[in-house]
Amino acid sequence: MLVACTHCGCTNRVPDERLANDPVCGRCGQALLRGEPVTLTDANFDAVVGKTELPIVVDFWAPWCGPCRMMAPQFENAARQLKGHALLAKVNSDDNPRTAARYGIRSIPTMVMLKGGSEVKRMSGALQAPQIVGWIAQDR
Ligand SMILES: [Zn+2]
Repeated sequence: MLVACTHCGCTNRVPDERLANDPVCGRCGQALLRGEPVTLTDANFDAVVGKTELPIVVDFWAPWCGPCRMMAPQFENAARQLKGHALLAKVNSDDNPRTAARYGIRSIPTMVMLKGGSEVKRMSGALQAPQIVGWIAQDR
């Protein structure tokens, strides 16, 4: 299983059975999968998404969006539960207009699930952690 490091961009090969075992980046030593959402930007989005074989679920959000802020702790909770099974990521759609435009984000929060760099499905609106986990588990 290939997992890109969100810190240095290095691609790491992690045996499937070690995914839940706190693997670290071979180059910079940072945790690859910490069980918390990673931050993606216009600058690192392609490097991480293109080189990570785990399903990636991107939460498009913005600081001014009330429902987004309500959903944030739920999304963090879901990231802990799905550690080693899916990579949960957040994109601030105000700061990263290129990525938001590419996915045609019109309302936030919107979650987009990607596999091998391709969109599998999306869902708009604030969800609770069990709903987020359930939605991701259907297709991972
Ligand atoms: Zn690294």
